[in-house]
Amino acid sequence: MTPRRPNLLIGVSLFVSVAIFLISALVLVEMRQDALRRAQEAATNLSLIVERDTSRNLEIYDLSLQAVIDGLQEPGLNKLPPLMKQKVLFDRAASAKDLGALLVVDESGNVIIDSRSVPARRLNVADRDYFKVHRKSSHVGLYVSRPFLPRLGEGGDSIALSRRLSHPDGSFAGIVVGTLQLNYFRYLFDGMNLGSGGSMALMLDDGTMLMRRPYDQKVIGRSLMGTANYTRFAQTSSGAFFGTAALDGVKRWYTYRHINGFPMILDVALATEDIYAEWRTRAWVIGSLMAALDVMIVGFALSFSQQWKRRLSIEEELRVLARTDGLTGLLNRRTFEEIAQDEWRRAQRTGHALSMLLIDVDHFKGFNDLYGHSAGDDALVAVAYRIIQSIRRPGDIAARFGGEEFTVLLPNTDREGAAHIAEKILASIRALQLRHVASAHQFLSVSIGVACTVGHQFPNLRSLVNASDAAMYEAKNNGRNRVARYSVATQQNSDVGAQSPAGYAN
Ligand code: GH3
Ligand code: MG
Ligand code: MG
Repeated sequence: MTPRRPNLLIGVSLFVSVAIFLISALVLVEMRQDALRRAQEAATNLSLIVERDTSRNLEIYDLSLQAVIDGLQEPGLNKLPPLMKQKVLFDRAASAKDLGALLVVDESGNVIIDSRSVPARRLNVADRDYFKVHRKSSHVGLYVSRPFLPRLGEGGDSIALSRRLSHPDGSFAGIVVGTLQLNYFRYLFDGMNLGSGGSMALMLDDGTMLMRRPYDQKVIGRSLMGTANYTRFAQTSSGAFFGTAALDGVKRWYTYRHINGFPMILDVALATEDIYAEWRTRAWVIGSLMAALDVMIVGFALSFSQQWKRRLSIEEELRVLARTDGLTGLLNRRTFEEIAQDEWRRAQRTGHALSMLLIDVDHFKGFNDLYGHSAGDDALVAVAYRIIQSIRRPGDIAARFGGEEFTVLLPNTDREGAAHIAEKILASIRALQLRHVASAHQFLSVSIGVACTVGHQFPNLRSLVNASDAAMYEAKNNGRNRVARYSVATQQNSDVGAQSPAGYAN
């Protein structure tokens, strides 16, 4: 049997589509979080590598400064010729591409020993911050200066790392200072894979910018003090957060850490755009595919359920056609028999009355001959309509029994009631006033036989039909256009058990 629920199919398809949508959304969200996690790990690793590298190199440079300080304290150093003195002092000093000269400066700021020149180049650094800081305090230790352009013309923007020299009594004796070109960090930063929107910056603890990628000479030395990002950098020794750069307004994931042992902060930042770029492409592809799949599923379900509904309605139509008479729309004889059998059994069971009318159009052959077959058909339709209009109770049924014969079954209706309805049908057909000049009555009329059974009056349905048929013939014999009830007298005039209307089979 065909399932009766086409809408269920649409419901199921909608459910499946929603499920697919939710699952894809979940997968995409998961993928997005993965992309962020990967970026976060990459940023953390990068910041760690750069921090270690920077810290290690600055430490080596500091060791060079300390080696010079130790050397200066060697007794007899001053007795050596200048060239030897320089060799001894700077023997252990680091010398790399971006490292400038190491200088020993006296308490007035004059360079007295120069790692790159004998005699020392003439230079006074008394106005530099790294000189003033040590002169003012003996507790500074290693000092990292603000960026400046070296006066000796050794490269571009640089910072100085300096330590204090003290006399035996602790008073200020000058400084040892070395310069480091900020380009060192520029090349270090450039070597890192940050994506097109990524940035990296190294700044002093006070927010003074030392180097930034993307490189811009103008930002070196600028203070970030007061910016939202710097405020967060200053709070803890390391951390990470989403922030927007004050310099370019780009939103990024920031990872920062303070350089171990040095007053500097490093940050590595990946642009949100870059982090999600790959994910975005995949999300488009997956999202479109899933959306297409959803549309297809719902589309298929809609068209299939449409066809299904059409089929159901055709089936219903066929069922109705199989049950009814094509001309009049009344039940056909086969359906009538099925229902009548049920009603017969019910009446037997309950003991209620069951009545039946047999209606035959009078002189219908003559009507056809006079007015034509088509007019005859119209008359039959009109008669059928009057019959159906005359029965009102649920359970009452009317059928076309064959040719110009109709039948009405009236459950729970006694002889009187059935006769009453028969009279009603007779009158309403007469009221049609269909002219029939060949009839004695001048108008189209019917003869109706009424039979009623209560209890076991008749042995079977067939004998009830025969009884109504016999009564109908009595009506014909009595002059037509009338109702006749089946009675014992009727029985005497006809043999109910043997006679039956044309073709009726019980
Ligand atoms: P009586 O009063 O004795 O019933 O006479 P009658 O002419 O009605 O009786 P008969 O049984 O001889 O004729 C029935 C006629 O009904 C025969 C047939 O031409 C006509 N008839 C049967 N079915 C149809 C139909 O579907 N359409 C039309 N137009 N005529 C039909
Ligand atoms: Mg007939
Ligand atoms: Mg007839």
